[in-house]
Amino acid sequence: MNKPVILTGDRTTGPLHIGHYAGSLQNRLRCQDDHDQFLLLADTQALTDNAHDPAKVRRSVLEVALDYLAVGIDPARTTICLQSHLPALAELSMLYLNFVTVSRLERNPTIKDEIRARGFGRDIPAGFLCYPAAQAADITAFKATVVPVGEDQAPLIEQTNEIVRRINATAGVDILPEARAVIPKSGRLPGVDGKAKMSKSGGNAIALSASSDAIRAAVRAMFTDPKHLRVQDPGQVEGNVVFTYLDAFDPDEAGLAELKAQYQRGGVGDGQIKARLEEILQGLIAPIRARRAALSKDPAYIVDVIRNGTEIARARTESTKREVVEALGLFRL
Ligand code: ATP
Ligand code: MG
Repeated sequence: MNKPVILTGDRTTGPLHIGHYAGSLQNRLRCQDDHDQFLLLADTQALTDNAHDPAKVRRSVLEVALDYLAVGIDPARTTICLQSHLPALAELSMLYLNFVTVSRLERNPTIKDEIRARGFGRDIPAGFLCYPAAQAADITAFKATVVPVGEDQAPLIEQTNEIVRRINATAGVDILPEARAVIPKSGRLPGVDGKAKMSKSGGNAIALSASSDAIRAAVRAMFTDPKHLRVQDPGQVEGNVVFTYLDAFDPDEAGLAELKAQYQRGGVGDGQIKARLEEILQGLIAPIRARRAALSKDPAYIVDVIRNGTEIARARTESTKREVVEALGLFRL
């Protein structure tokens, strides 16, 4: 029995953060044995809104790969591959762009939100507007049926499946499988300022490589309940970033429930909840940081891991591209 194929990955725009740990990396660790898992270092996609800074996109390839290995992704069980070195992805993207309209791309809710967030106005890089077609190429080239994404990304999977149905209908044969979005229950972790979601590009993240001082400083500066001025005052838990993070990372559910009740009654200071969170985050990040430091002494090994994974992925994606071109009945020499 073939294992279900998972395609997931990260834009190479900076080191990964604890939002990735809660929202995707833990799940990827669990999927290593019972799935055929591919992790895409999405450097081409990163360029769609970072064309002004290709050096950052290049540098971040090793950073993200290091983070994968440091948290325990095992290259023997998960294939780590580099998007820009898989030409079949670019070729399929070009084909798929003929099966989607500009107005459909502009109506995609994820794209609409992201265009607004980046303040592109009418000056949208064409590559950015078209990245849903490129993402459809990524997913289908691996024939992935399981795609773990944040809930804001679900419209991209819908768009992928629309393209899949059009290609299959035109070819007259079900050449490509539809994919299913798997959305984590945990939701998106907010940034340390409690506003937007934590993101590599937002300057609001705690990196998985953060130093112990950086973790302490980030937790100290965290937003709590602005009305909770004295220890004895009742405090609010909802919208309190420290509790949002405790919900995500504190393994002691009963202890946390008790602390929340005390905080709401009054008598618990912000220093106390911050100390608890800091201890948990220091404990989570210290071993990752240590493994990362050890691995980073041997960049040639990281490059080898990416090169080997990319070769495996190249065979897989080339074969799908050939099948699609054949099924569509294009001229072949
Ligand atoms: P960028 O700022 O460059 O967009 P990012 O931090 O948003 O970077 P991505 O590479 O865009 O990271 O996201 C990859 C995946 O990581 C997402 O599909 C999502 O599953 C997960 N992820 C990203 N940010 C968070 C977050 N704050 N909380 C939970 N999961 C997240
Ligand atoms: Mg993002």
